[in-house]
Amino acid sequence: MSPLHLELRNVSKSILRKVNNSRVTTQVLSGLELEVQGGELITVMGPSGSGKSTLLRLINRLSEPDSGIITLNGKNTRDYDPLELRRKIGMVFQVPIVFRGSVRDNIALGMKLWGSYIDIEALARDTGIPEALLDADALPLSVGEKQRVCIARALANQPEVLLLDEPTSSLDAVTAEKVEGLLLGMRRERNLTVLWVTHDREQAKRIGGRKFMLRDGRLEEVHV
Ligand code: ADP
Ligand code: MG
Repeated sequence: MSPLHLELRNVSKSILRKVNNSRVTTQVLSGLELEVQGGELITVMGPSGSGKSTLLRLINRLSEPDSGIITLNGKNTRDYDPLELRRKIGMVFQVPIVFRGSVRDNIALGMKLWGSYIDIEALARDTGIPEALLDADALPLSVGEKQRVCIARALANQPEVLLLDEPTSSLDAVTAEKVEGLLLGMRRERNLTVLWVTHDREQAKRIGGRKFMLRDGRLEEVHV
């Protein structure tokens, strides 16, 4: 399977906010352009509120652009079946969300939807989840453990593109480093196309790849 490339052309997105009973529009993304080659890793930095999460959400259609086009392997993401699109594009959020049930149930969530089979024990090993936790309740886990469950859940769908929204920012330094290493290893092993949002310049340096700063609604390539 050759890795998927991703293109954003002239993408704009504004949001509507209610302020003192009136509606205020804020332009978050404005004519944004980005081309990510198949198997490439891109790092996106930018201050809080600059639109990094909005950008990721547009790519797997959790939200729609006001204008512009987003294509995956040359095909407009609007022309994909949304389920197929979200299977191809895995997303890991800044704050991990787990559901009632065991760790195993949580990891298998997408697989049940797709009817595919994956070796959960092997995936748990690869994502640093102790086997003893597999049948434990997911809700009381620590944030670091939950984040691993979310990463395992995303990988269980065998995505080809991975959108990472500050995936280590809620973790302590030691866990963050482990999760970072894990994601980089997975990316190499599976030849994934990755957009990694981080506010941490040092992390961006460690991760490598082309680096962008989101400023005034557009991406500028930076060399840090
Ligand atoms: P970042 O991830 O870079 O911190 P976001 O993409 O989350 O930024 O947000 C960009 C801007 O859009 C912020 O000003 C934020 O307050 C606003 N915003 C994002 N989502 C919503 C929403 N659902 N409703 C209202 N405002 C939103
Ligand atoms: Mg964000």
